[in-house]
Amino acid sequence: MDHIALILGDQLMRDNPALEGADRVVVVESLGRLSRRRLHRRRAHLVLVGLRCAVRDLREAGFQVEHHREAESIPSVVRALTQAGERVVCARPNDPSSRPRLQEAGAAFVDSNQFIVPDEAFAAWAGDHATLRMEDFYREQRRRHEVLLGDDGGPVGGQWNFDADNRRPPKAGLTAPTPYHPRENELDDEVRRDLDRWAADGRVELWGDDGPRQFAVTPAEAERALHSFIETRLPWFGPWQDARVDGERILYPSMLSVPHNLGVLDPLRVVRAAERAYRGGDVPIQSAEGFIRQVLGWREYVHGVAHLRRRDWPDRNALEATAPLPEAFWGRKSGWACLDATVESVEETGYAHHIERLMVLGNIMLLAGVEPWAAIRWFQTAFVDGAEWVMAPNAAGMALYADGGGMTTKPYAAGGNYMNRMSEHCGGCRYDPRRRTGDDACPLTSLYWDFLDRHRDRLAGNRRLTMPLRNLAGIDPDELTAIKQRARRALEHELAGRPGGEE
Ligand SMILES: Cc1cc2nc3c(=O)[nH]c(=O)nc-3n(C[C@H](O)[C@H](O)[C@H](O)COP(=O)(O)OP(=O)(O)OC[C@H]3O[C@@H](n4cnc5c(N)ncnc54)[C@H](O)[C@@H]3O)c2cc1C
Ligand code: SF4
Repeated sequence: MDHIALILGDQLMRDNPALEGADRVVVVESLGRLSRRRLHRRRAHLVLVGLRCAVRDLREAGFQVEHHREAESIPSVVRALTQAGERVVCARPNDPSSRPRLQEAGAAFVDSNQFIVPDEAFAAWAGDHATLRMEDFYREQRRRHEVLLGDDGGPVGGQWNFDADNRRPPKAGLTAPTPYHPRENELDDEVRRDLDRWAADGRVELWGDDGPRQFAVTPAEAERALHSFIETRLPWFGPWQDARVDGERILYPSMLSVPHNLGVLDPLRVVRAAERAYRGGDVPIQSAEGFIRQVLGWREYVHGVAHLRRRDWPDRNALEATAPLPEAFWGRKSGWACLDATVESVEETGYAHHIERLMVLGNIMLLAGVEPWAAIRWFQTAFVDGAEWVMAPNAAGMALYADGGGMTTKPYAAGGNYMNRMSEHCGGCRYDPRRRTGDDACPLTSLYWDFLDRHRDRLAGNRRLTMPLRNLAGIDPDELTAIKQRARRALEHELAGRPGGEE
């Protein structure tokens, strides 16, 4: 029987399986969804321009496309079609919450080809283990897809993981070639006009700055972005993937998460392209392996965990964190060089690399005891690649330890010393990362000890925290009181955007 293919905004694959045998295509721009919460202007732009380019390309490929603009919701359009007797088919949605809503509206699903590991395969791998180690999953995928294997079936280079050769701290003068930026087209201008109109009417609440589009939204642009990355930056990805140097916004990350999450980049092709560059002698093993670990390992693992635990995430709050999101995350100045510079950069671009997300933004939320869903909502608002499936595992699981160690063996809590080692922020900050008490004490360092103290009973059995907890126990009680006072000032004044204590 003929059907209508429903193409969702994050499933823009050229070979979307719903298209097979379809006699029509429906594409819906849901204004209801865009207006559900505050959104970075650049994210709204990318989603809309991606959809509109897909409509253009599908028509050019000969499909008859119904393009619904300013719709109340996607399910409302699907319901109208199914009630009129049409059969609507969609690739299984990526976001856990979209599945029941579309099913209730009458859509039928076919298997998606957007991920290398389908949800059911991930669930079979996970079995009934309470802790799912990404590294185990990653090795299994390397074997299964024969990626970076030697003739003996073991890993090339004799190791599965070259992490120890990666993550070097930044060095002065480190620079990188400029990433590929797509050329904008008339659809970018059209989207800008629509966003301006909807913002003026109060129909959408946009945050952050506009600017030239920096991310690929079509398969052709994504291909160019991938090749530019592999040729100009992948060779150095391994050693410098975590480094961030003041004045250099992007160093070596691929900036491929947007095309990945829109579905315009096939992840297995990406993995194969990186492996080819290694085998051709253009890229050292620690860079090829480090990058492949992100795509074949982390990305697939996060997607699998998001679906496997979809019913549990809303209740996960292992550290009983209840604080609201501090105003400093919306741009009020805290006076902390690390936080202010990162938020400013996110506001301007909608992007930050992994370590800024985890060890600056996520770490500060963890130390400040921010409630996990307040954190998730902020990340979803603030980032150009903020898909729903990505958020619970990364923000709640990895950054906030809300699942009590389901994804990580210890909370990723760090004080000023870590920041000082891995970034150049501290050099330009009024605080001293080595000090934990006094007026010039680093707030992160004080909050770090305060965090350990608040959770010392809960974390006592964690072997990876034996040393920090022993150091905590050695702190003189008067000094601990002073540390906690400094931490309170950080939470009540500085993070609230009132560093001088003013109301
Ligand atoms: C608190 C927090 C929030 C995050 N929010 C998002 C988000 O909204 N959207 C998003 O796509 N990723 C998110 N991530 C994961 C990761 O930080 C980004 O995918 C990455 O920084 C994107 O930049 P890149 O493309 O330059 O990545 P690279 O460092 O070049 O990595 C290559 C690719 O691997 C994939 N990848 C790597 N790590 C992850 C991961 N942990 N989860 C999913 N995919 C991964 C991405 O597709 C990425 O493009 C988040 C991580 C944390 C800790
Ligand atoms: S001294 Fe502390 S607050 Fe300042 S940049 Fe370093 S870590 Fe951040």
